[in-house]
Amino acid sequence: MYREAKVLLRPKFLPKPKPDPCMFIQKGFSLQRFNTFGIDASAEEFITVEDEDQVAEALAYSLNKPLFILGGGSNILLTGDLPGITILVRLHGISLVYEDDTYHYVRAAAGEIWHDFVLYCISRGYAGVENLSLIPGSVGAGPMQNIGAYGVELEQVFVSLDAIHVHTLEKRTFEARECEFGYRSSIFKTREKGNWLITSVLFRLRKTPEFNISYGAIQEELDKACITDLSIKAVSDAVISIRRSKLPDPDMIGNAGSFFKNPVIPAERFEELKKAYPSIPSYAADGGIKLAAGWLIEQAGWKGKTLGKYGVHTRQALVLVNYGGAKGTDIWQLSEDIRTDILRKFGVELEREVNIFP
Ligand code: FAD
Ligand code: NAP
Repeated sequence: MYREAKVLLRPKFLPKPKPDPCMFIQKGFSLQRFNTFGIDASAEEFITVEDEDQVAEALAYSLNKPLFILGGGSNILLTGDLPGITILVRLHGISLVYEDDTYHYVRAAAGEIWHDFVLYCISRGYAGVENLSLIPGSVGAGPMQNIGAYGVELEQVFVSLDAIHVHTLEKRTFEARECEFGYRSSIFKTREKGNWLITSVLFRLRKTPEFNISYGAIQEELDKACITDLSIKAVSDAVISIRRSKLPDPDMIGNAGSFFKNPVIPAERFEELKKAYPSIPSYAADGGIKLAAGWLIEQAGWKGKTLGKYGVHTRQALVLVNYGGAKGTDIWQLSEDIRTDILRKFGVELEREVNIFP
């Protein structure tokens, strides 16, 4: 059984504020600063929620209207204005709730910035999320696509999440096995898409780190920094440094990270491709062989391609970019052209990772 933590860093059961009798609804609200692509689209009605009472109130108001749930806007492409209600999730609070001999159990509210949560863990020596440093967005969106980077996925530190059904207002706790986590996927991105508003996530962080530094350039980066005494802070710093050198900063160039998922194909199909493209990168994956979508897109000549206000990033072919003033439909069409080309050239179907709204 779990031992209660001696010190609760931020008390979880503070008295809740009374619901605001006149919920603040902004009409025709510009979402340009609320999506990292920087697309100029607006929400018909926009509501910010900061506690669970406000969530319930906003959901009750949204019944029978189109509803969009927004976190940091770093994994969405807006192809037009959003009809109905857009709820911006800004629930805050991170607290150590209990511990046992092996783990610290930490609950983070959905509106916390993911990287702030990572820094919270690193500053206290809680291990497990260091490879997930600097992923943009909110804690609540993390389980949506089981965020992952450098060989670690959220599900490895996940215990459960609390959510509210957007139609029935039922409150429910989802354990890990109920979330159907997969590669950049969960039940919330598949058959329950749009049905639940996640309010908080409970994580399990190791007291003794189990380092995972074999992936990508982490070891190289640690060597460069002359790190001999490995720590979760050193791994986090290495990941941050690699990401800053490779990925476009959304504050400078609009983007939503990897636009496509890496495709997983059957082993027999891979053998055929390997004959035609002997240098094709590949990785063993559940149910087949994972290809690097970025490599396919680069081979097809799309890397660095610019179509006026938008294009494919110069250093990372998996990232589509808005240089300023592009429409969501421009970027969607570019993604469609890339998909068609990759299918024609390699016979491989690319699936979008980014969520398309409306
Ligand atoms: P949003 O974009 O606001 O929303 C994404 C989806 O989640 C939407 O469908 C939305 O409706 C839903 N949603 C949001 N909050 C909630 C909630 N509380 N309850 C229910 N549904 C909700 N992703 C990775 O996995 N690994 C990476 O390494 C990575 N790197 C990135 C690098 C860059 C530069 C960028 C721009 C993006 C990157 N991403 C990466 C994608 C993105 O950061 C993650 O998917 C992140 O979890 C999205 O969080 P968000 O709060 O911005 O979600
Ligand atoms: P990279 O290191 O150049 O590798 C290219 C691709 O090969 C990655 O997509 C990665 O798959 C795969 N890969 C590399 N080494 C692997 C290994 N040892 N085992 C299995 N697969 C391996 O990738 P990058 O573009 O610089 O990104 C680094 C990490 O950050 C990756 O994990 C990537 O997913 C993540 N990232 C994600 C986003 C996003 O928006 N989702 C954006 C930027 C970076 P995986 O993608 O499956 O890891």
